[in-house]
Amino acid sequence: MLPYGYHHKILHVYLDDLRLEIETPDDDFYKTYVGGSALGLYYLLKHTPAGADPLGPENTLALTVSGLTGAPISGQSRLTAVAKSPLTDLVGDSQSGGFFPAELKFAGFDGIIVHGRAASPVYLWIHDGEAELRPAEHLWGKSTADVEDILFEELGDEKIQVLQTGIAGENRVRFAALISMANRANGRTGMGAVMGSKNLKAIAVRGKNRPKVADAKALNQLARWGAKHFPDSDVYGLGLLGTAEIVNGQNKGGGLPTHNWDSGYFENAAAISGHRMSETILKERDTCYACTVRCKRVVEVTEGPYRVDPRYGGPEYETLATFGSYCNIDDLEAVAYANQLCNMYGMDTISCGATIAWAMDAFEHGYITAEDTGGLDLRFGNAEAMTRMVEMIAKREGFGDVLAEGSARAAQRFGQGAMDLVVAVKKQEMPAHMPQVKRSLGLIYAVNPFGADHQSSEHDPSYKWYPERMAMLGLTNPQPNKVLNEEKVKFALITEYLYSALDTYNVCQFVFGPAWHLYGPDQLVEMVNDILDWNVTVEDLLEVGERRLNMMRAFNAREGAGREEDKLPKKMYKALKGGRSDGIALTPEEIEQAKDWYYEMAGWDQNGVPAREKLESLGLGWVAEMLS
Ligand code: SF4
Repeated sequence: MLPYGYHHKILHVYLDDLRLEIETPDDDFYKTYVGGSALGLYYLLKHTPAGADPLGPENTLALTVSGLTGAPISGQSRLTAVAKSPLTDLVGDSQSGGFFPAELKFAGFDGIIVHGRAASPVYLWIHDGEAELRPAEHLWGKSTADVEDILFEELGDEKIQVLQTGIAGENRVRFAALISMANRANGRTGMGAVMGSKNLKAIAVRGKNRPKVADAKALNQLARWGAKHFPDSDVYGLGLLGTAEIVNGQNKGGGLPTHNWDSGYFENAAAISGHRMSETILKERDTCYACTVRCKRVVEVTEGPYRVDPRYGGPEYETLATFGSYCNIDDLEAVAYANQLCNMYGMDTISCGATIAWAMDAFEHGYITAEDTGGLDLRFGNAEAMTRMVEMIAKREGFGDVLAEGSARAAQRFGQGAMDLVVAVKKQEMPAHMPQVKRSLGLIYAVNPFGADHQSSEHDPSYKWYPERMAMLGLTNPQPNKVLNEEKVKFALITEYLYSALDTYNVCQFVFGPAWHLYGPDQLVEMVNDILDWNVTVEDLLEVGERRLNMMRAFNAREGAGREEDKLPKKMYKALKGGRSDGIALTPEEIEQAKDWYYEMAGWDQNGVPAREKLESLGLGWVAEMLS
């Protein structure tokens, strides 16, 4: 048994017959799959058959942490949720922070694998290595904060941590999120809908079982180094202003998606910026377990139509963009209110805001009419209609029932013109970083197995701004932001391996990373070795990330997806209007050429499917067998 970091305990929850089993994997298993995303993918590939209905009992939901989770250093309390996605019908993968991940570890488990479907709602209570399923009818239909309060009282402990699916997940909104602390979300790819479809309402955890750290003194030194250097680091502003820090900068560079991606410039961006939030509705900063950065926002609005309870946190950059500039809305309080609704009902703010922005676009083009919306004037800039629509989506009321399917599925009802306005990849709505001005993101958005994602690789400007850390990854030939040549494709792939490793070691991508982050790749290596005593190198980390990426691609290949699914929405090839990015567009030719290079570098065929030799070299011969 590994002496550090792990409990060697995976909890299998069989909901069909309300049975619990504890698996005790061996050392090799942990050294290969590590934790987080790759650990979850192992169970997804083994237990979810090809072609399974994502909202059916055959889908397997994995909730996993890693050997680093709960250690006394910033950025390690992360939870990965993996299942087949009801939004993309392909692999689903989503991360969150907060205190739940560390508490799950202290409760005695490295992961929870949920199989089947319960006949009626249940919740799972895990405490000090013990687990039990309990009835949850009394929690069904309640807001996330109310569910927490009921469980605090029922279990007699306000220090329990609760992960839950909200009302949107109960209603199988395809982009429903998992929520903890009533304000942290495993937002992307619809994991809340999967949990809701299983009639598993919540998981409560509590424990005192802290895994041992191999070299506590060295880890403490690394943690102290982080605390000391934080004020001079490039993440200091993130602590002060949250991710909202970048609203103004993105806008200035022509990279703030506006008017459903017709432009990269929003005239009133300052009104929804992190600076404005700090001056007006910000109540306090919040954090995740043991993190010194404290980037989370807590906002409060006590008057007017958009009252916000601080319990539901505050909007991130992506949320300010999707409910703000995507929809041409410059009312910060309305955006904060939409954020509250998403946390209260359990929805991904990116997909929710972007789906409403698409609907506004289709409404103004006349593809959707007031008759469709039940009389709602769904025009750009209408904050009242936007917030009303968020509520209707969560409850699947009226036109909300159509939008609860996500923009790509909803558009199919309204014809080709409406479909051409969708800004999604693999049916997942695009996040608020524009590939037109950061070209390698165009490639990564296209090829990423769970749809467009801004946290799956490093963004282009970092290549020239952080040469020392880039050199640690073998990247020594910086390129301009707006080119997508062979070297830039290499940059995209290698940094994608590193980000993939971050989601497998389950560490925060603001604290650890290859560029502007508090700690660089060398210090990530140091942390892994201090905690686990594994003697890994940067190359070993990259291989962990490469293995996880190949597992995801293999899952998609098993579903029949390949190159054809790796495509960007039409709007990416239309010239942007206004601001510094005026007139800029991607071209289909550059994306197709980049895909050729990328597949070849990754060791995949030209359909984007991992070759047998590649899978075998990563210890994934069993996955190659599945594909053959
Ligand atoms: S940087 Fe922010 S998101 Fe990351 S662990 Fe710290 S508080 Fe949480």
